[in-house]
Amino acid sequence: MKDQLELLWELQKIDLGLKSIKDEKDRYPKEMKKLDERQKVENERIQKEKEKVESLEKMRRQKEGQLSLEQEKIKRSEGRMSEVKTNKEYQAFLSEIEAIKEANSRMEEEILQVMGEIEDLKKDLSKREKDAGITLEKVEAERKELQEKMVRDEKVWSEQMERRKTLSQQIESKLVKLYDTLKEKRHGVGVVAVKQETCQGCFVNVPPQLFIEVQKNNALVRCPHCNRILFWEGDRNSK
Ligand SMILES: [Zn+2]
Repeated sequence: MKDQLELLWELQKIDLGLKSIKDEKDRYPKEMKKLDERQKVENERIQKEKEKVESLEKMRRQKEGQLSLEQEKIKRSEGRMSEVKTNKEYQAFLSEIEAIKEANSRMEEEILQVMGEIEDLKKDLSKREKDAGITLEKVEAERKELQEKMVRDEKVWSEQMERRKTLSQQIESKLVKLYDTLKEKRHGVGVVAVKQETCQGCFVNVPPQLFIEVQKNNALVRCPHCNRILFWEGDRNSK
């Protein structure tokens, strides 16, 4: 019986290990999705900034086009000055040209302002692109790490499953069955240690007579409270 309990105890440890690997496996897709999300947000942010710069560039080109049209207009008006016959007409021409020139100088200022904005945005953009590059690199590294961990976990998983199989065959099938049933009902724990006269599964005290029995580890003793199979590993821990 003692050997059987030892084997069962090892089986329990393997099952707990497998359980935590399974939890990790369930977590992977979520983690991957989170990383994808971060990547997407970063790329979208950059894209938006680029679009803003592009729209300002477009505005600048429009204004410049308009300005050159207006400058053409001035030239034409100035060319027609020679045809002017009266002083009144001449004055009218002059003030017309003056008005266009004023409008043009306002537009020139607007163009300068837009160019300034573009310059600032481009500076921001290049900084942001640098930052995003760092973030994306980090995301990529995390992704790689996660993938490597998945591979490692998968390997451990199959090794442990193999070990579990061998172990199960060494334990009486009746005992394995009992253990499996308890494990199913008791959150994955069928065999549990007793420490300081307390069941480590339900944390209820084990009666003294039973505690003596458990310490011998040579009979199947179950917790009167949670029904789990009790195991004594106190000796090896105190050594
Ligand atoms: Zn218990």
